[in-house]
Amino acid sequence: MEKIPATSFALVSGSASWGIRFPEDVEEPGFRVARRDIVFDTPWGPSHGWKLIDIDGSVTADGQPRRILNVFAHGWPPDRIDHEAHRRVAWVLQEAGVAKIVASSTAGSLNRAILAGDFVIAGDILELHQTTHSTLPGRLSFECGARQMLCPQLAAVLQRTAEEIWPARARVYGHRAGLVAGHSWGPRYQTAAEARAYQSLGADFINHSIAPEATAAREIGACFVNSTHIVAAFSDYFAPPDESFRLEQVHGDLVRIASRISLKAIARAPASDECGCRRLRNPWPAAIRASS
Ligand SMILES: [Zn+2]
Repeated sequence: MEKIPATSFALVSGSASWGIRFPEDVEEPGFRVARRDIVFDTPWGPSHGWKLIDIDGSVTADGQPRRILNVFAHGWPPDRIDHEAHRRVAWVLQEAGVAKIVASSTAGSLNRAILAGDFVIAGDILELHQTTHSTLPGRLSFECGARQMLCPQLAAVLQRTAEEIWPARARVYGHRAGLVAGHSWGPRYQTAAEARAYQSLGADFINHSIAPEATAAREIGACFVNSTHIVAAFSDYFAPPDESFRLEQVHGDLVRIASRISLKAIARAPASDECGCRRLRNPWPAAIRASS
């Protein structure tokens, strides 16, 4: 059985890094793959697509070399649609002792002011029914708060990094913008009716990964932030089918830039827990658990 290495830092990769060899094709100095194609066993089956990435101390927050865990495509298995994948990923991260998670993805805009090509860091999530695949060991094990689902400390590091690199033709929306990330499981995109519904509920953008990953991160007591760029404008939901649509063109040159941002952000992530995210998940008092 593959042993899960100890590390405090993890990068969950998603569609923001598709179509390239990650991180080699990003050509960001200081990052090297130590191992790839790792499969970890979990209580709910194998979790595929893991890498170990070594980060040189010259680019980390504390000047120390850092080994991080990285998983491809949110840990989704390659051969089937599986909404449980995020639980297996979270379990691996918990076993590793991960405390800081940067998760890269793309999203569709539900806000007329957020355009294709903009970079968005969520301030909250909207996932009304939550996942049925909780990582918690029982209903009365831990009380998980719903405040600060996105870590303000990680978000500040990510925003500064994005503002250095993201093309000037687009915008970077930070944590303080208060944008809300909605959730649908996919794999189908949203219909026009669904886009209107999510917008009316208060979501500013939507994808298939941010909310369950944020919830899973809270359940393991880790800080979480999304590193996301917009690939579809709100008006696209109402436009006629585009015969010329090619996913690789939508992603274009932003894939390498987005990948650089997520790499640099996890390297620059501080180890401290001053943000308080960890304290928003607590064991239920024994007196409550014992009552009958
Ligand atoms: Zn935090």
